[in-house]
Amino acid sequence: MGSNNKFSIVSLGCFRNTYDSEIVAQRFEDRGYKFVPLWKKEASVSKKAPLDILIVNTCGFIDKAKKESIDIIREAIDYKKEKKTRNLYVFGCLVQRYKKQLARAFPEVDQWWGVEQLNASNSVHRDISPSWSYFLKICEGCLNRCSYCAIPLIKGGLRSKPVKDILTEVRMADKNGTKELNIIGQDITSWGKDFRPQKNLTGLLENILKETSNIKWVRLIYTHPRHITDSLIELIATNKKVCKYIDLPIQHINDRLLKKMNRKVTKSQIKRLIKKIRKIMPSSVIRSSVITGFPGETEDDFRELLDFLKEVKFDKLGVFTYSREENTPAYNFGSQVHHQTKKRRFSRIMELQQKISAESLIKFLGKDLQVLIEERKEDIFIGRSEYDAPEVDGLVFLRKKGLRPGDFYRAKVVGAYDYDLLAE
Ligand code: SF4
Repeated sequence: MGSNNKFSIVSLGCFRNTYDSEIVAQRFEDRGYKFVPLWKKEASVSKKAPLDILIVNTCGFIDKAKKESIDIIREAIDYKKEKKTRNLYVFGCLVQRYKKQLARAFPEVDQWWGVEQLNASNSVHRDISPSWSYFLKICEGCLNRCSYCAIPLIKGGLRSKPVKDILTEVRMADKNGTKELNIIGQDITSWGKDFRPQKNLTGLLENILKETSNIKWVRLIYTHPRHITDSLIELIATNKKVCKYIDLPIQHINDRLLKKMNRKVTKSQIKRLIKKIRKIMPSSVIRSSVITGFPGETEDDFRELLDFLKEVKFDKLGVFTYSREENTPAYNFGSQVHHQTKKRRFSRIMELQQKISAESLIKFLGKDLQVLIEERKEDIFIGRSEYDAPEVDGLVFLRKKGLRPGDFYRAKVVGAYDYDLLAE
């Protein structure tokens, strides 16, 4: 163990990485290291009192994320050169893809490791995410093989976590004061498909719900339109603990491109599914994500996507420009789209979605909302409703005194903006 046994982690990328970083933090704490949250003012790290280990968890999904990871590695190396940390360890998806090149480029890094099956150990705690919000990763890897996606190259095929391990983790999280349980994976609707006999997410969710007493919100993140079942929609609609929040990435709507993306779903199937969800849960919020500039996307294809987004009005939307990832099937597709065209299409969709999001939030005016308080900035408290996932969606600002982060508070919505709400 290090002389001053202080360590910290910089966690980049998605919720799944946050989960992995928590597990790694747990392992170091089990070995007697003390966690230092570098992002907090009170974190006292200096030349005189350096960290023993600084750890960076990287993302290697798309160009933008890769660039960010490399920038942070460089910053961490400067941190080491300034003698603020004795050791620097780097792990995660970027390392899984480019370990040799990275080790050659950055000899200052003391340890590199890729991605491994990181299971929660015998206690669930949070150093990185707040104590009231827990990410529960139920599977690793993916069986869908979308042609643009590097994740199967990094994480491999689908490996669902056994029910027993998942329920143990839920019980621990519930006991440890978790209020919001975010169920994550690459595609959680594929959970159990690698078991013989197969199991499904609906059955697992029913079991998870039985283990929740302190937990008030259960949120499903990263579903796949091909694998969402009627029974799952029914359970979301009828169980009051399950957030009426449907995270449904479609990536595109043109049938030729959906085929080239290997999304295994068609335009009419997507439309039917959204219609069904909105019929059964009219007050639900649907988040989706789309990719612009996929190889072969013509102006007509793009217009078809734009018209569909105008018509369907997703409440929340993530927009990505296609990132040409080596060793993925789409890397060698013809008709790669010029980056200026990708950027122009990206901006068009963002412009449109800003209006749609503002329209969607107006429906909350005058309504009461259950808000999970997360922080305070001067005299404003900031929280989220069940319709906002952590980090990626909007916020609820509360003009109220005496609230406490980690508590729920029922508030009346008095203001609606492009992405956020004001309540009191
Ligand atoms: S479902 Fe998601 S993680 Fe799986 S291959 Fe497709 S884009 Fe990648």
